Amino acid sequence: MTKLCVPLTGATCERMMEDLQAAQAAGADMVELRLDYLHDHSELAIRSLMAAADRFPGEVIVTCRLASEGGHWDGDESQRVSLIELAGLCGADYIDFEYEAWRRSANVRQKIGLVCEIDGQTDRPRRRLILSKHDFERTPTNLDTVLADLRAEPAHVVKLACKANRATDAVRMLDALRVSARTRPTIALAMDEPGIVARVLARKFGALLTFASLEAGRESAPGQLGIEQMRSLYRWDAILEDTFVYGVIGCPVAHSMSPAIMNASFAAAGHNGVYLPLRIEPPYDDFASFVGGCIARPWMDLRGCSVTIPHKENLLRFVAEREGDIEPLAARIGAANTLHVEPGSHEDGSDARVAAYNTDYRGAMDALLSGLNGTGRDLADAAVAVLGAGGASRAIVAGLVDAGARVTLYNRTAQRAAQLAEDFGATALPWEQRDRLQADVVVNCTSMGMWPDVDDSPLPEAALRTDMVVFDTVYNPIETRLLREARLRGCRVIDGVAMFVGQAAAQFRLWTGRAAPTNLMREVVVRELGNRNA
Ligand code: NAP
Repeated sequence: MTKLCVPLTGATCERMMEDLQAAQAAGADMVELRLDYLHDHSELAIRSLMAAADRFPGEVIVTCRLASEGGHWDGDESQRVSLIELAGLCGADYIDFEYEAWRRSANVRQKIGLVCEIDGQTDRPRRRLILSKHDFERTPTNLDTVLADLRAEPAHVVKLACKANRATDAVRMLDALRVSARTRPTIALAMDEPGIVARVLARKFGALLTFASLEAGRESAPGQLGIEQMRSLYRWDAILEDTFVYGVIGCPVAHSMSPAIMNASFAAAGHNGVYLPLRIEPPYDDFASFVGGCIARPWMDLRGCSVTIPHKENLLRFVAEREGDIEPLAARIGAANTLHVEPGSHEDGSDARVAAYNTDYRGAMDALLSGLNGTGRDLADAAVAVLGAGGASRAIVAGLVDAGARVTLYNRTAQRAAQLAEDFGATALPWEQRDRLQADVVVNCTSMGMWPDVDDSPLPEAALRTDMVVFDTVYNPIETRLLREARLRGCRVIDGVAMFVGQAAAQFRLWTGRAAPTNLMREVVVRELGNRNA
């Protein structure tokens, strides 16, 4: 089973020893002692460090990385080799050595080879050699050849770490990992944010290990996730060979709350899935080559994606080009936020079925309906005033009109309101007239009142009436000024978290066929918002 390995990057032996204990407490299966970070390379220091490492229950890698390969060592090569030999003989389980340096010197090959017992005499060497190669610029096109070159050497393990400039690079790395791991233990890593998919899915595809830092700021390579994140957020221990893959496609995507919500929900429902942030650059070709590339590799088990800015139109185009199913209202809105992939039987994925949905409007309608519950009112024939005419408004107006509501739109830019009203059969009135609005339900789809402008409100307090239902799509803060004033006025209020949870719950239902744990989803959103605003 793929190990979770924490690199220890302390500058002193004392710090390394503390970190060893912390890594054990955090659940690391393995640690990598990065000797190149240490300031004291005396024999005493190395011996005491290795004695401490001996008490670590998992396996230990010793590495003294060259500066030219992303490490800190720029000293004498023979001193470096002696250091590695000493640490190795003091009880390392693995020694990581750079392929280029190995190839350069017969003397090095002889010394390191001796420590790692690669003379072919034993099946159970006490120390194993990891031959590694790094590329901090790109992921080469010929990954299979690069790994084959590494495997041509008598190493027990081959390791390749390359910068992923796009998420497709990470998928190619997983391709190469699958092939290489069939014949030799392999570590194949994609660095930087687009590489996250390869770091987390290393376990699905049988890598020897993936690295995870002890805490934020202690990464030994770009894009390394923290061990806590790996275990709690991405549920490392639950990832299996047949785990389904989901994610949120956007740019940027690092701030998204969706991985926290969906992974927690999969865990609660016992669904064998993992949900990842997938940063894809804006052009359609980037979107199509990533999603198309995953579908063309059925072994990726991609089953669905949430799709956010700037890819909502790209999703519709992609599904249309593959002659998949587009939810009619998503087509009318002109944007979709959910991809569902139904696998076929062809090895190249060509018979997989794709479908696009818009769960933003569904989430808003569900939130509104639960808010109306018990009021004796329904959306059919309700008078609804919508403030704003942007993307959120478009989805909500479409859903409201579809449900039979009479919608009046108010927007600062009158032309946008007029266009939206015309597209869906609503009425547009000037923004300045919103303080005289007559409605059963008011929906704020502007960004007014959103953090940090929490003292703003899109509606004067005097326009609120006791019998109104007031729904604010803004979810940060959860209680906006508009909602606070409406609550004090005695209105029934619905917050933006209800919509956020509603759209996530609709995605969960589409992907798993089961009801979503909506209370848990709400708890996660509230917790995440709290962390962000702390
Ligand atoms: P958008 O397309 O950029 O539209 C922004 C809207 O806000 C436009 O109508 C804009 O009017 C109006 N606006 C912005 N600043 C204003 C101001 N100072 N005075 C008057 N009007 C102003 O954004 P969006 O994607 O529709 O998002 C809008 C809001 O919905 C955001 O706050 C977002 O948090 C929320 N949202 C919530 C969820 C959820 O799940 N709860 C999902 C999506 C969006 P102009 O046309 O005149 O510029």
